[in-house]
Amino acid sequence: MQPLRAVKGMNDILPEEMERWQRVERAFAHHLGLCGFGEVRTPYLEPTQLFVRAIGEVTDVVEKEMYSFRHHDEPLTLRPEGTAGAVRAYIEHAVSGKEPVTRWFYMGPMFRAERPQKGRYRQFYQLGAEILGDKGPFCDAELIATLVDFLRAIRVPDLTVLVNSLGGPDTRDRYRAALTQYLTPRSGELSEDSARRLAHNPLRILDSKHPKDQAVVSGAPTLVDCLSEDDLRHFELLKGSLDALAVPYKVEPRLVRGLDYYTRTLFEIKGAKERLGAGDTLVGGGRYDGLVRDLGGPDVPAIGFAAGLERLLIAMDDEPKGPKIEVFVAPLGDQATASAILLSRALREAGIRTETDTRGASLKSQLRRANTLGARVALVVGEDEVREGFVQVKDLAGHSQERVARSEVATYVAAHLAKGAVPA
Ligand code: AMP
Repeated sequence: MQPLRAVKGMNDILPEEMERWQRVERAFAHHLGLCGFGEVRTPYLEPTQLFVRAIGEVTDVVEKEMYSFRHHDEPLTLRPEGTAGAVRAYIEHAVSGKEPVTRWFYMGPMFRAERPQKGRYRQFYQLGAEILGDKGPFCDAELIATLVDFLRAIRVPDLTVLVNSLGGPDTRDRYRAALTQYLTPRSGELSEDSARRLAHNPLRILDSKHPKDQAVVSGAPTLVDCLSEDDLRHFELLKGSLDALAVPYKVEPRLVRGLDYYTRTLFEIKGAKERLGAGDTLVGGGRYDGLVRDLGGPDVPAIGFAAGLERLLIAMDDEPKGPKIEVFVAPLGDQATASAILLSRALREAGIRTETDTRGASLKSQLRRANTLGARVALVVGEDEVREGFVQVKDLAGHSQERVARSEVATYVAAHLAKGAVPA
């Protein structure tokens, strides 16, 4: 039978790679935890309508990329992003009545039926955070600074922070009118997709990667020209706070993002192009002051971001890989094997990473395996050792050997490992 393969654009993550994944996830939870964020986990499946209403009907994600199906007539979708579900949960659990400001982070898979390529998959993982209940620019600056600190901590080099302001709903209406006025006489020069979007969602045309659209858009009016006094004040205070926090950034007046819910502050963080190629956007985020209300909740302002985990892994500098285990227990014979399993358990209880052989391999092959796994110590247990209640402790780097009473082994090995006794 032909072996089955994973769905296109969906990847297996094997244990060798998982170590880096976990390092990033741990660092993220640690950094966000230090800033008072709590982890939220929402379902992978949500009502389709949630994403249509939150992300917007005329967006690439909703029009082309959602995995949607009906189950007993209920339209469901595998979540393409995390904010809509988080906001749905925030409303459903009436969180705004319990605390004035909510700080949540999440980590998990998202699903979009995009054309797979490097850094772009159909199941991919995002690390995201949301602050609900604070409308001010200082909150925006603190969130961006926290994110930059996290990216530096996991050693992502060459970060570029881009910021823009979309303004509030009034500004967007004014800008939409100005943009439509500019684009309508040029609609013949636009790509087919963009020409169709002109009537419903002209802002998205700014985001198009199509060369025809980019040429037209290069002369278009910019959002900053249409900002209201309040929007401008917000934007100025954001920039001032980023300066005060020593976060370098660039204002990118044509930055708009693919999701409809954004208002005012919008940002992206890019990494090194040499490593990431076209998919160099590591993080996308922004304010979504109207979304909680639009989804049927109270009028609560909010801001959030999502980082693509796979892209962070491509962008990160590598760290030397730590050994998988510290101790290998090498039994010789069946009786010794049962005893070795017990001994391994005692070592693990002492917090020592330990593996043992249960296949009855020769001593030579067991020691080879211990070296491959990076163990610093091998404990050799033969039939004699079992009978007499001791163990041979071999330092694999130092090539020394010591006979230690079985009841003392865990303490002895822990002290030996703590000494860092590996001669170069
Ligand atoms: P978005 O939710 O579209 O604002 O994307 C936020 C971040 O998620 C991007 O900057 C990417 O790092 C990551 N991302 C989005 N789509 C994909 C994808 N199909 N594959 C891998 N990462 C993605």
